[in-house]
Amino acid sequence: MNHRTKPVKIGSTVIGQGGFSVLAGPCSVESLEQFSKTAQFVKKQGAVGLRGGIFKLRTNPNSFQGLGREAYDIVKEVKAQVGLPFVSEITDPRQISDLENVVDMFQVGSRNMHNYALLKELGQTKRPVMIKRGFSALIKEWILAAEYVAQAGNENVILCERGVRTFETATRNTFDINAIAYAKQHSPFVVIADPSHGTGDAKLVGPVALAAAAAGADGLLVEVHPQPKEALSDGYQSLDFAQFEEMMHKLEKVLHALGRKLEHA
Ligand code: PEP
Ligand code: MN
Repeated sequence: MNHRTKPVKIGSTVIGQGGFSVLAGPCSVESLEQFSKTAQFVKKQGAVGLRGGIFKLRTNPNSFQGLGREAYDIVKEVKAQVGLPFVSEITDPRQISDLENVVDMFQVGSRNMHNYALLKELGQTKRPVMIKRGFSALIKEWILAAEYVAQAGNENVILCERGVRTFETATRNTFDINAIAYAKQHSPFVVIADPSHGTGDAKLVGPVALAAAAAGADGLLVEVHPQPKEALSDGYQSLDFAQFEEMMHKLEKVLHALGRKLEHA
């Protein structure tokens, strides 16, 4: 069965029409300066959307939990500066009424992919929803999670492969390239790749991003930080500005070879 992808509109950007869309930004929104610098840089390099965590689900309760509501004004100001749509994770249905005024797309994190109550609630909102693959979820379960949102009334759903847990310990997760090709062929949903969480290592993000593009992904969700070593979350897997620029140049070449193109804002 070869499905036709149903494109999704995020703010003024449409993803899933054959081109390749890059959504980039820090793991967490940390300050106006950090988010603004990053947003301006990634836009200049061709990103069509911004990412940035506000409510973080951390494995360790002592780790930085995100700025929470404090980030709202920062995000609104930076969105006004660069004019790009913004995606951020929702961790609790009670955040919907606030967050829908801040985000252009809701992100359901890996740890919440099986939270069917949250998925049903998001099915009743007007914002598109991006669903990260649970780190132990079957591809079929991930696609069914998207079906939950679509059947609750919101058909603007994007699947995001972010790596799964395997026996391998050399990398944080194992990026499942099969999942990209499979979901493109067996679901109507836009499929993007998150090589940042998929590898957990900034040096591996570029090569895996190129592989995802070659496997047919509609785009990327990638972590970028002005000073990765200073990041409050996921610094080791965040690209610095030079690494992001290099990845974008290589992506352009790979996409050209495939007869596809990088979408620009
Ligand atoms: C993130 O995107 O920063 C994140 C927490 O992702 P995941 O849910 O895939 O771990
Ligand atoms: Mn992260």
